[in-house]
Amino acid sequence: ARKAALAAATGPGATADGHKVPLLANIGGPADVTAAVEAGAEGVGLFRTEFLFLDDSKQAPSEEKQVAAYRQVLEAFPEGRVVVRVLDAGADKPLDFLTPGDEPNPALGVRGLRTLLDHPDVLRTQLTALAKAAEGLPVYLEVMAPMVADRIDARAFADACREAGLRAKFGAMVEIPSAALRARSILQEVEFLSLGTNDLAQYTFAADRQVGAVSRLQDPWQPALLDLVALSAEAAKAEGKSCGVCGEAASDPLLACVLAGLGVTSLSMGAASIPYVRATLAKYTLAQCERAAAAARASDSAEDARSAAQAVLSGE
Ligand code: PEP
Ligand code: MG
Repeated sequence: ARKAALAAATGPGATADGHKVPLLANIGGPADVTAAVEAGAEGVGLFRTEFLFLDDSKQAPSEEKQVAAYRQVLEAFPEGRVVVRVLDAGADKPLDFLTPGDEPNPALGVRGLRTLLDHPDVLRTQLTALAKAAEGLPVYLEVMAPMVADRIDARAFADACREAGLRAKFGAMVEIPSAALRARSILQEVEFLSLGTNDLAQYTFAADRQVGAVSRLQDPWQPALLDLVALSAEAAKAEGKSCGVCGEAASDPLLACVLAGLGVTSLSMGAASIPYVRATLAKYTLAQCERAAAAARASDSAEDARSAAQAVLSGE
């Protein structure tokens, strides 16, 4: 019965008092689109384009192949938003022909946007393919870069988008603490932010996301992580721009309420989590979410933050 009730609860994401928080899907390619549509996703908040690059270890996929894949995804959300992330190669997602094999700390080396700025041809082809895929479609395309560290990175990405003739909003992922600390500066170059909480936790706590022994520090309830989310959301609000979350944090229904309370403007997650997040968000007002967020930030551990938020939301 609980499952049926959750499946029936469709419609846009919103708090009990009607504050809208669009619920978007994280996808890896056209194969994930059906599940996203069935879960009632209001669009795509993170299209990880790495999958397209995995077929060939020697070169990037052709422009034609990319156009076809992007077009399939864009056509599935005719009225919705689609946020495409340009290639995030390196560290946990190495690609033979792009990723330096001799770095002592690949997570701190040439990865994400850094890789693309070293290989402008790969970035140009991807942006040109996106521009062509969106041609003639009413879709609301947004394109964002992974691993933006500062305003110089953000400007380099925005320049590349303009040069490719891309008619879309350009955004920056906040995955490095420097980007959260200087979010207003980055927002001088781009139109939106999207928090990648998986990497943001990794870099905030100096805790490798692939090492189980440090997983305690990868907990997205960590108050320090919530502080960086709040900083980013406040900066976006001050600039009149949006700040979403597309890391795993958004898929935890209780944490999703806290993120909304911190001022995050959209939540993107694996399709399977959307009904649960939608149902939980609908139970609380924005003011309750804000109080839960304040209680979580006032805590000293991830565990206490979760209990404090839970206590506020259950009216204890
Ligand atoms: C993140 O880091 O939170 C993110 C969404 O990107 P990925 O998990 O693909 O690195
Ligand atoms: Mg990331």
